[in-house]
Amino acid sequence: MTDFNLKAPSFALLQASMACWKCGSGTLVTAIWVPRLTEFDEEGELEVADAAVLQYVESLDAAAEAFVVQAAPLLRIGRSQTAGVNYWANHCSHCDALQGDHFVMGVNGPFFLQSRDELASLTVHPAGSGLRASAGYSESGWMSWVSRMFGESQ
Ligand SMILES: [Zn+2]
Repeated sequence: MTDFNLKAPSFALLQASMACWKCGSGTLVTAIWVPRLTEFDEEGELEVADAAVLQYVESLDAAAEAFVVQAAPLLRIGRSQTAGVNYWANHCSHCDALQGDHFVMGVNGPFFLQSRDELASLTVHPAGSGLRASAGYSESGWMSWVSRMFGESQ
């Protein structure tokens, strides 16, 4: 597939609970974490990054997609009115409202960790394979702690 722009040697799903912005119920949200990634285009490699969390994932390779569908059914293609794109977004388990990456990955979200202790609030589901995606990503210090804790670094 030519539309992928990222690849990673392995990945894991990080899950946490957050309050739905719409109904206020607690719902499970999932982030796709990679121990490192390579950004590329038809010309070749553009950039290599260490541990990161993908954002605004527009497409995934078939194997990665199958893993996400099974392990995180609330994470599925949805249309963000604010972002104006279709992407793999979290949905509320109670009211089905789309939980935008802007909120889930943002400063008040469950994936904005500031100490190692907070890692305990995340559930990690390692996938047994690599990943190709069309997505953006963000990097933060805590994401490399996941590598060390779970031995996902390669
Ligand atoms: Zn809700």
